[in-house]
Amino acid sequence: MTEQPSAARGVLTRGTVVIDSEACKGCDLCIDACPPRVLVMTTHDLNSRGYRYPTLIPGGCTGCKACSQICPDFVFQVRRFETPLLVAPDGTILDHDTANTATSQSPAGTEAAR
Ligand code: SF4
Ligand code: SF4
Repeated sequence: MTEQPSAARGVLTRGTVVIDSEACKGCDLCIDACPPRVLVMTTHDLNSRGYRYPTLIPGGCTGCKACSQICPDFVFQVRRFETPLLVAPDGTILDHDTANTATSQSPAGTEAAR
């Protein structure tokens, strides 16, 4: 009826994660490791190897990297923002000013954030 606010397509957040669900083995370690409890395991969806995997509840990630530090399978790439940015539910950064982003935790050698 009315025009949708920007929050309908994304939320302001201090960080986000990209989740390589195909690499997950469903151990659940990341769920309890996340301080703001914004990771939840799928209940019915499985990856191609038959494992449940975590998904991110948008808006609460702080970019703390606890998930990437505890995950034994390098599933997470963490992005932490110096100022809050608009992020879509799938982790896509909708704010075009990405100059203040920092990325960490990638087995392929992505540079680590401080
Ligand atoms: S970076 Fe921190 S807050 Fe974000 S999902 Fe991982 S553990 Fe949770
Ligand atoms: S810690 Fe890693 S392997 Fe274990 S459930 Fe979380 S993402 Fe999957």
